[in-house]
Amino acid sequence: MLDTTVQYTYLASAALFILALKWMGQVKSARRGNWAGTAAMSLAIIGTLVAGGFTLAGYGYIAAAVAVGTAIGVPMALIMPMTAVPQRTALSHAFGGLAAALVGIAEYYEHHHHLPRVTAFVLGAEVLLGALTFTGSLMAFGKLQELISGQPVVYPGRNFASIGTLSVALLATAYLAVDPQFVPAMVTVVASALLFGVLLLLPIGGADMPTVIAILNAYAGLAASAMGFVLNNKLLIIAGALDGTSGLILAIMMCKAMNRSFSNVLFGAVGQIAADAGQGVSPTGKTVISYTVEDARALLENTRLVIIVPGYGLAVAQAQHACKELAAVLQAQGTEVIFAIHPVAGRMPGHMNVVLAEADVPYDQLWEMETVNPRFAEADVAIVLGANDVTNPAARTNKASPLYGMPILDVDKAKTVIFVKRSMKPGFAGIDNELFYLDRTVMVLGDAKKVVTGLVAAFKEGAH
Ligand code: NAP
Repeated sequence: MLDTTVQYTYLASAALFILALKWMGQVKSARRGNWAGTAAMSLAIIGTLVAGGFTLAGYGYIAAAVAVGTAIGVPMALIMPMTAVPQRTALSHAFGGLAAALVGIAEYYEHHHHLPRVTAFVLGAEVLLGALTFTGSLMAFGKLQELISGQPVVYPGRNFASIGTLSVALLATAYLAVDPQFVPAMVTVVASALLFGVLLLLPIGGADMPTVIAILNAYAGLAASAMGFVLNNKLLIIAGALDGTSGLILAIMMCKAMNRSFSNVLFGAVGQIAADAGQGVSPTGKTVISYTVEDARALLENTRLVIIVPGYGLAVAQAQHACKELAAVLQAQGTEVIFAIHPVAGRMPGHMNVVLAEADVPYDQLWEMETVNPRFAEADVAIVLGANDVTNPAARTNKASPLYGMPILDVDKAKTVIFVKRSMKPGFAGIDNELFYLDRTVMVLGDAKKVVTGLVAAFKEGAH
């Protein structure tokens, strides 16, 4: 009876996990998705606690672990700003990977004298995936948090070193199926997987981390699934598979939106700053036109259509509330205002949607790339706020560019372009943007929040 109740609890939990993923795919239902995911996880924990048949001391250990997890997790969620969500996710994955690896090691340690070959192999796979997710995610966290350099670390033979280390880990895992009692094989799996996580991440640039985190998410999911087989827990198999596949799908979507392959992200060392970038002079010797906030305001007067293009810098500056105010003052003078959302603007999928939703910018003002692109030709002004790569025409024309082939926002088609950024420094791809040097482009150099707040104030003053 108890077992049946637990199985039904697991079934409800699995269904809620699936619904959570479905609902989180849409901005409007994302909150519901979050609640469904939380409910699913709560049911999973309750089911496990009931089914486990733990001793009183066992429940004591679990309660202590929950207390430690809560003490770390709650402040992390409350203190970390929205711009730090990618590194927060990386840290969570690191803990998830570590948990999977430790459970695998504990199971092996306890039962290795009488383990069936298949179980030993699955345990090896779980530990391999968990351990590489642990160090890989910690590296991703370090790069995003700028604790270590976000620049790709390249050295001769780096791919050989990575693939060699992975091969050792795979061979040791395979050997566990031959001789489950051979403890050095498990030790080799742990050591080589931990090292592989570091080697894999070293040559990857900081801004590619969100894609890598999604790939590591897939590994963590697979590790959880393997753990489900070992512990004979169907819910863990299902939840791990969902986690693994959703991570993989997300990584594929990001790669598609950047028109890059997995191997280019993992081995392409993209993100090194080009030597000639950020000088403020084009290859043909043109310099940029600098405008003050007041000059920029004059450009926005009597406009019919203004398209705001938010990017990573908007999130850094936390300029979303000021941006909403700017849209309001422009609308008050009769201008139509829309926001152009590029799928990989910012540093995580949906970054701009999340940031602008925080300021309650209405969903119908957020236009996806495909629908907004034809409208740039009618726009009097495109204001680019802390975006760079997602507007760079080199993606269309320059085969040598790391951005080549990435679909971009057609900002260059607008009658006037106002670029708001702090300096002439390049964006994530590390290359100059020829848009800066167009005759109809003006640069308003400064922090996005300060500039936009200044524009709003200038409009309000002008109205008096
Ligand atoms: P970007 O090309 O990285 O450019 C952001 C710009 O914001 C920089 O040029 C920077 O210039 C400016 N900036 C930074 N702080 C600012 C501030 N406080 N105020 C004003 N400007 C500021 O960003 P993007 O156009 O959003 O493109 C995203 C890039 O990330 C793409 O290359 C994409 O492929 C990559 N990527 C995205 C994802 C994702 O899921 N979204 C995943 C992986 C990779 P200054 O320093 O001069 O201010």
